[in-house]
Amino acid sequence: MLGDFELTIFSDGTYPLDGGAFFGVVPKVMWSKKVTADDRNYVTAGLNSLLIRTGKQTVLVETGMGNKLSERMVKFYRQPAQLLSNLAADGVSPEHIDIVINTHLHFDHCGWNTVRDKNGKIVPTFPRAKYYAPEGEWQYARRPSERDAISYIPDNYDPLVQSGQMTLLKGGEEIVPGISVKTFPGHTAHMQAVLVDGSPGKGRASAVPSAAQKENGALAPAIACYISDLIPTTAHIDIAWGMAFDLYPLQTIESKKQYYAKALPEKWLTVFTHDPKTPWAYVERDEAGKMLARGLSSG
Ligand SMILES: [Zn+2]
Repeated sequence: MLGDFELTIFSDGTYPLDGGAFFGVVPKVMWSKKVTADDRNYVTAGLNSLLIRTGKQTVLVETGMGNKLSERMVKFYRQPAQLLSNLAADGVSPEHIDIVINTHLHFDHCGWNTVRDKNGKIVPTFPRAKYYAPEGEWQYARRPSERDAISYIPDNYDPLVQSGQMTLLKGGEEIVPGISVKTFPGHTAHMQAVLVDGSPGKGRASAVPSAAQKENGALAPAIACYISDLIPTTAHIDIAWGMAFDLYPLQTIESKKQYYAKALPEKWLTVFTHDPKTPWAYVERDEAGKMLARGLSSG
């Protein structure tokens, strides 16, 4: 629980990613202390979606890799395609989803936005949902650079934009009370993190807080942030540990500083999109200035 909101992580599975690309200019002697690579230098990356139940709406942040990868891409990434079955195991069917938010439009973040029906037509996976994605990202995706063109699969978003089911965001909008987006450039120019503020009164129209709520700290700010590829895993929390995929690595550093300036003092829960083991944690800085990820204590 985050204030009045209920948050759950659902995974689309894990996939192999080149360790060098995952950690950019960080030498392997350093990153291999945190993450183990196989004999081809692949590490395991997760595909974490965040489900938010506000009491009024069911909101899904990010839709993983999906099931429409080309044969060539399946050779690299294996297409785990587990999100729908993992949602179903918790009683969530595609019809339950009211809102889908994509932080950016790389294929491993919006893959389940759409599926092919039995006639091969691209249709929305979540038929009732309103979809949201950054407008600048969609503009860029229409004419990506040679460097990252492979990361954009138009079937994941173009049919939704054309039908009007996807709304394009400038950045800074509140999508429903308590859930908003904020642009953090670096990985791409227009990637938007999703901020979830479950503080009483923000989302659910909660009445005056009870004495019990006051006592257990329910009045404290309760903020989580799906920070997406700005900080993809707990191994990337150091300011200088960016991915080689980042188009603007110096902006990644600047954006991380901006994020930590709010998230650390306000004790935000950070959600890590590609961490296969720790999907969320509190990021802290110790006395020596070293960044630490503190997991959720059970119970
Ligand atoms: Zn990405």
